[in-house]
Amino acid sequence: MGGGHSHLEILRRHILKPHPGISLTLVSAASKHHYSGMVPGFLAGTYREAEIAFDLAALSASAGSRFLEGQAVSVDPTRRVVRMADGEEVGYDLVSFGVGSSTRGSSLPGVQEHAWTVKPIGRAVALRAALMELASRSGGEAARAVVVGSGAAGIEVACAAAAVFHRTGRSRELTIVGDGKEILEGYSPRMRRRAVRVLEAKQCSILLGARVAEVRPDSVRLSDGREIPSDLTVWLTGPAAYGLFEGSGLALDKRGYLLVDDALRSVSDGRVFGAGDCATLSSHPHTPKAGVYAVREGPVLWKSLVATVEETSLPRYVPQGDFLSILNTADGRALLRYRGIVSGSRWAWRLKDRIDRHFMRKYQTLEPEALLSPGSKRTSTAR
Ligand SMILES: Cc1cc2nc3c(=O)[nH]c(=O)nc-3n(C[C@H](O)[C@H](O)[C@H](O)COP(=O)(O)OP(=O)(O)OC[C@H]3O[C@@H](n4cnc5c(N)ncnc54)[C@H](O)[C@@H]3O)c2cc1C
Repeated sequence: MGGGHSHLEILRRHILKPHPGISLTLVSAASKHHYSGMVPGFLAGTYREAEIAFDLAALSASAGSRFLEGQAVSVDPTRRVVRMADGEEVGYDLVSFGVGSSTRGSSLPGVQEHAWTVKPIGRAVALRAALMELASRSGGEAARAVVVGSGAAGIEVACAAAAVFHRTGRSRELTIVGDGKEILEGYSPRMRRRAVRVLEAKQCSILLGARVAEVRPDSVRLSDGREIPSDLTVWLTGPAAYGLFEGSGLALDKRGYLLVDDALRSVSDGRVFGAGDCATLSSHPHTPKAGVYAVREGPVLWKSLVATVEETSLPRYVPQGDFLSILNTADGRALLRYRGIVSGSRWAWRLKDRIDRHFMRKYQTLEPEALLSPGSKRTSTAR
């Protein structure tokens, strides 16, 4: 369930070496998946959509698996079925959830109607079009854009918007709104200071300690009554659990994420697996909901599924303690943080671009001939 960062590796492994005991069905809300690490670059116009997207239907065909496009809405582990939004049921012997996460606060008044969210991440394509339309619109007045969310994604998207306005020459009022005391919570003060300097240089205002009460068609209203005019509002407030597991009887954490053991198996049902944002490790419950973890969990998940089918010993996943974080500032530079190192530089951007393109090549270059003859021998053709 879900064709995102954590499940791509399942498809890849099945393409490279199909397991004779596994008949795979991929169910995903969209037939394409977009790599979130490159989304800010896409919004800024650095990448084309084709460079950041995976064709799930094609990868699925390549893996000899069935592909169903649709949205899972609930799971019944006693009958071993997942219910879809259109009323259909998908049966399983084993099921793995990699459906990602929704966005915190997205049920607040007006968010669904008047703000752009990028979950599922493919919505970034429509957001890019809206941003271009606003930046190219003629008129004497400044374009007003508000990014709600002062974490890494909010800062990258604000920088991308600034780059688009800069390129079209349209004057703008750009604001980041956050409900915390600082931007980039969880990062070091040095990294935060750097990020503030970058945003100030782009004339992006930062409004902190501000709680949004409502998004209106042309403004963002705060809980203290203040109103920020906005022609385009982007909602990037961090992850929240989908309601998919509610009422299923499966063990969940307090936030509603599926609780899994070190083999990425539900702690309450050995036939249910979970990885990426939608799952919480019971042994490491504070692991960030970030793509780097979702990607690292993919190979463990595959081993775990195979071990369950073969009734051999299960793998054990231990999440890394820290990870390299590189924020694209959309000006040919990036802000890098790793352990004690902080750098805002061109080389950080080049490093990010190289890592991201390498990730895409790994999945985009999986044998296309297999699409024409699904029964043929499958090997990797990474170019
Ligand atoms: C703008 C932005 C930038 C980011 N940049 C980074 C970064 O640089 N580094 C980093 O580590 N993290 C980053 N993240 C976070 C990262 O995107 C997530 O942590 C990661 O995508 C989680 O992977 P996943 O496999 O759990 O889910 P996803 O990759 O989100 O995949 C979920 C999949 O499930 C499908 N799906 C969703 N709901 C259903 C349903 N009900 N039924 C069926 N299918 C469904 C979706 O269509 C999708 O295919 C960023 C997030 C955003 C919003």
